[in-house]
Amino acid sequence: MTTLQAPPTARPVPKSATYEIGRRVAAMRAAGKTVLDLATGEPSFATPTRIVEAAEQALRDGYTRYTPSAGLPEARAAAAEALTRDHGVDVPSSRVYVVPSAKYGVYASLAAILEPGDEVVVVGPHWVSYEPMITLLSATVRRVLPDAATGYRFDSTELLAVMSDRTRAIVLNTPGNPTGRVLDEGEITAVAEACRRSSCWVVSDEIYAQIRFDGVQHRAPAAHQELADRTFTIGGLSKSHAMPGWRIGYIAAPESAQEALDGFIQNSVGCAPAFVQRASIVALSDSGVQDEIGAMVHEYGRRRDELCSALDTVPGFQPSVPEGALYVWADVSATGLSGTKVAESLLDVAGIAVVPGEAFGPEYADHIRLTYAPSAAVVSAACRALAVWTPR
Ligand code: GLU
Repeated sequence: MTTLQAPPTARPVPKSATYEIGRRVAAMRAAGKTVLDLATGEPSFATPTRIVEAAEQALRDGYTRYTPSAGLPEARAAAAEALTRDHGVDVPSSRVYVVPSAKYGVYASLAAILEPGDEVVVVGPHWVSYEPMITLLSATVRRVLPDAATGYRFDSTELLAVMSDRTRAIVLNTPGNPTGRVLDEGEITAVAEACRRSSCWVVSDEIYAQIRFDGVQHRAPAAHQELADRTFTIGGLSKSHAMPGWRIGYIAAPESAQEALDGFIQNSVGCAPAFVQRASIVALSDSGVQDEIGAMVHEYGRRRDELCSALDTVPGFQPSVPEGALYVWADVSATGLSGTKVAESLLDVAGIAVVPGEAFGPEYADHIRLTYAPSAAVVSAACRALAVWTPR
């Protein structure tokens, strides 16, 4: 009798730092500990009622079946209109894909264009999942590391220095996670210049496009004439519309990538949930909902100020005030401790969960990221705890 062989070894797949910290927070809470979670960028607000009602109605109306893989025509049209109205991205609905989350939108865009051995430029510090997505697709990350002293602004020389004939894409994120900075005109022009010299795509993650403060303008790379036919613009409703659990987003894709994107989406997820697509139309079009978003952004701005003021008074912390998104990026090098040690101490001593900087690139081990997405009460409690925290 032959013995059954043990199953083979699974491939190494990097974890998401944000999800892993979330798992740790959940375990601590299950063990009875109180944790102020300033790690996961998850809006505290309830989804606006009109969106919930639209989903309920859609379920009653029978939107429980498959939809076309690219999405319901009316949902694609709503996303196309919102992109034009809000961000000046002039795109026909035939180029819009409604997908289950912006996160999937980034992955699907990369999957549609990358082949093993390709290189992808990312700008540090960058969101935790870009690098795992790229390596899962057997491509290689090339990191641009702009100077913190210039607010992490980059130019075309820095881009071109890491580009080669294997470069297939530049990943952008504006407003950015973790720094909260918004790309300026010079940077978009720098991307256009780099692309002029090299045939590559732009994958622009704009999940935070509506969360901006102090009148800062959002510039969508696809609105730049030279980048329009090579840019994937990715958006989603998780953050701006307080819909993280709904998993809904969209891609405005370059026409020349549509065949590949169709294939990837059809074979990997099929389509986004039908009733959620219907709800997304209300989310993107209803004027009452747009007013609610304005109120949420206003409140995030207030929490940002409160958190930045509290961080300013912590010895050794140097927070930078974000222009948008949901995060404060703080240099903690003057504490003499690594970001990881500071994060451990904040959790153990003050009960505050944050994300260590190295999750956003190995060069950022002396930083931490904190979010002001949690409720006003949680942010205020964290500010009070920060005021009396000393590292241990
Ligand atoms: N994007 C959020 C964050 O950076 C949520 C978790 C995730 O998907 O990474 O905290």
